Amino acid sequence: MSRVFSGIQPTGEPHIGNYFGAMRNYVALGEQYGKGSIYCVVDLHALTNPAAFDPRLLAKRTFEMALANFAVGLDPSRVVFFAQSHVPEHQELSWIFTNLTPVGELERMTQYKDKAGALESVPAGLLMYPVLMAADILLYKADTVPVGEDQTQHIELTREIARRFNHTFGETFPEPKAVYNKDALRIPGVDGHGKMSKSKGENSTLGLLESLDSIWQKLRAAPTDPARVRRTDPGNPDVCLIFDYHKLFSDLPTIEMVDVECRRAGIGCVDCKKKLMEGVTATLSPIQQRAAELAQHPDDIRDALAQGAKEARAIAAPVIAEVREKVGFLKL
Ligand code: ATP
Ligand code: MG
Repeated sequence: MSRVFSGIQPTGEPHIGNYFGAMRNYVALGEQYGKGSIYCVVDLHALTNPAAFDPRLLAKRTFEMALANFAVGLDPSRVVFFAQSHVPEHQELSWIFTNLTPVGELERMTQYKDKAGALESVPAGLLMYPVLMAADILLYKADTVPVGEDQTQHIELTREIARRFNHTFGETFPEPKAVYNKDALRIPGVDGHGKMSKSKGENSTLGLLESLDSIWQKLRAAPTDPARVRRTDPGNPDVCLIFDYHKLFSDLPTIEMVDVECRRAGIGCVDCKKKLMEGVTATLSPIQQRAAELAQHPDDIRDALAQGAKEARAIAAPVIAEVREKVGFLKL
C-alpha cells in the first residue's frame, strides 16, 4: 500500500502548469489512496522567496491555494490536506536531515541555481529548500510523490537522504518515487521564457482562477513559431507554445486539425488561439464556478485545514518518535 505526499507553495496564484503537472494527479491519487494521500500548502517553503515576506499576503495565498485545490476536486474529508506551518514536525525532521546533507550537493541543485541567480542576496533557506522537502515527504514515510518534472532532482536527493539516514541510524524510511503526468511534464510560460512559474509573476502564468478575458489577452499576445512571419507561411507546431497548450486543453480531433492545418498554413495563429480558448473555457469555467461557491464559506476552508493538520500530526507522531529514539535524543 502506497502513501502519497505532495506540496504546493503559496507563492502566487496557482496556474495551469501546477494544475496539469501536479494538482490533477493529487485528485486522481486521492481517489485511489484516500487518507493515505497527504497534500500540503508548503508555506514554510514560500519563505525562501523574499517576495513572500508579506504576512497578510502569505496567509491569503495559503488560504487561496487550499481553496483552489478543493475547487479542482480534492475533497479534504477524503484525503489529508493541511498547511505546512501547522505541523511543526516538518521543521524538526528537516534539521536532522540538514546534518546528513553536504552543502555541495545542495549547491548543485538546478532550482537553487536558477532562483539564487535572480537574487541579489540569497537566503540560506533557499539552499536548504530540498532538505525541508525531503522532510515533508519522509515525515509521512511516503513512497509516492506526484510532482512536475522540475522536482526530479529534489526527489533524487530525498532518496539519497533516506538512504543516508537508514545507513546511519538503521532502516527507517522508504526511498520515494516521483509520479509525473507524462502529458504535462514542464508546461512553458505564456511569455515564452522557460517554465511557467508562480514566482516569475503574472506575465509567465495562465492562472487557474484568472478571468477568461485576461487569459485571452495573454494568449493573444503569446509568441508562436517565430519562423512563421506571414499568415501564408507554413508553421511548425512542434516549436509553438500554443500547440503545447492545445495538447492540454483541446480534444484529439482539434489537436490533429491544428497540427495539419498549421503545417500547411491552413489556419492562422489568431484562429488557432481562438480554438484553444474554447478548450480553456470548457476546462476552467467549472473550476472557477466551484471556486466562487467555495469562497462563500471561508470558515469551511479553515475548518478543513485545522482538521487536516490534526490528521497529519497523528500520522507524523510515531515517525518523529522513532526518529528521536534512533538519533539518540535523551528520553525523559
Ligand atoms: P514557484 O515559482 O514559486 O516555485 P511554481 O509555479 O514552480 O512556483 P510550485 O509550488 O513550486 O509551483 O510547485 C507545485 C507543483 O507544480 C510541483 O509539483 C511542480 O513540479 C509543479 N509545477 C510547477 N510548475 C510547473 C510547470 N510549468 N509544468 C508542470 N508542473 C509544474
Ligand atoms: Mg516551483
